[in-house]
Amino acid sequence: MLADGFMEFLIPSRLGRPSDDPIFALNTEAKARAAKGEKVVNATVGALLDDDGRLAVLDGMSAAIREVSARDAAGYAPIAGSAPFLKGVAADLLGDRAMAVETAAVATPGGTGALRHVIASFLEPGQALLTTSFFWGPYKTLADENGRTLRTFRQFDEQGRLDLEDLDRKLGQIVEDQGRALLLVNSPCHNPTGYSFDAGEWRALGDIVARRSAAGPITLCLDVAYAKFGDGSLDLAIEEMLRLPPSVLPTFAWSSSKSFLQYGLRVGALVAVHRDVELVRRVQNALSYACRGTWSNVNAAGMIAIGKVFGDKAQREAIDQERAQWASVLKSRVARWNALARPAGLKYPRYDGGFFTTVFTERAHEIAEALKVDGVFVVPQEGALRVALCSVAERDIERMVSAIAKRIG
Ligand code: PLP
Repeated sequence: MLADGFMEFLIPSRLGRPSDDPIFALNTEAKARAAKGEKVVNATVGALLDDDGRLAVLDGMSAAIREVSARDAAGYAPIAGSAPFLKGVAADLLGDRAMAVETAAVATPGGTGALRHVIASFLEPGQALLTTSFFWGPYKTLADENGRTLRTFRQFDEQGRLDLEDLDRKLGQIVEDQGRALLLVNSPCHNPTGYSFDAGEWRALGDIVARRSAAGPITLCLDVAYAKFGDGSLDLAIEEMLRLPPSVLPTFAWSSSKSFLQYGLRVGALVAVHRDVELVRRVQNALSYACRGTWSNVNAAGMIAIGKVFGDKAQREAIDQERAQWASVLKSRVARWNALARPAGLKYPRYDGGFFTTVFTERAHEIAEALKVDGVFVVPQEGALRVALCSVAERDIERMVSAIAKRIG
């Protein structure tokens, strides 16, 4: 409540915004306790850390950034993004197929910017995007901030597989209600559950989207933030997306935050693919305009460095190798988790790689609070605890698993 005589300046929809991201707040608390000498297990951080808690970096990428000249780094980048960068991202996603399809692509500040553009460009104000029932919290923040809403379909069926029936039902309802839909999915290595769609799930999802698009255009956005840490390549998903009928617009939210371990660089991209040249031209124009109308342009040095790496086979391969080493550190943690967590009775989805997993529990907030007493920090969500294996040393996994198992009971 404001003191007497003061006027409210914020518009009503902005009153009562919660400020700090709850995950960042938990991380701050864990770090404060660790700084006092306590041995905490901090499984809240969404970044890959080494076993001593330091941020993992790709030396080749850091060198590429340092090599950008001071003048190039200081200058404005093109509004839609630099050409070598965008070409590199399209090839990174689509491989040789990039030559055979029409693409619209813009650079964005991280994958977050790409998600912002897809929400604001392919839904009318007030309309809802559709995503899985477990989702990365900022999906909702982005929808809120841009005057859109978020609906979900049940992510897992009784067998712990993607609930395709509920997807079909909800997507059908949304297209009927809105005359259009935006389906946003994150695979492989979904945040927060760690789940990756398999071939059968991709095929069935494609069939559903294709069928439902008979009632109105569907934009299918694949958030590939963690793709480089998945088990296989993205090829399977890309093949499915590219076979969809013209009533579906496949889009990709790409990010350098995880793929190049450059969270602070703020470089990402939105790529849309369609066979119709005129449609792609319009999408490109709308997205470029949206860049101008939001952040103007993206970090020049970051785009130059990534564009150069994409264009230089030797440099790219050296970085791929460095990344593979970090991916194997993460893989060992996932293997350790799987070896301990199932026998301990923890319930969590199929997890074969990626930064996070979630442990199902209806008492997530109560248990996360109790775990703090044990010096274990995880993120409570609706119906689950998010456990960031990316930030936990392999040697601490046993302590974390037994603490969670004890608290869940
Ligand atoms: N999508 C998911 C699921 C994420 O977890 C993140 C980052 O944590 C992003 C997209 C985008 O991140 P950034 O904006 O740093 O690229």
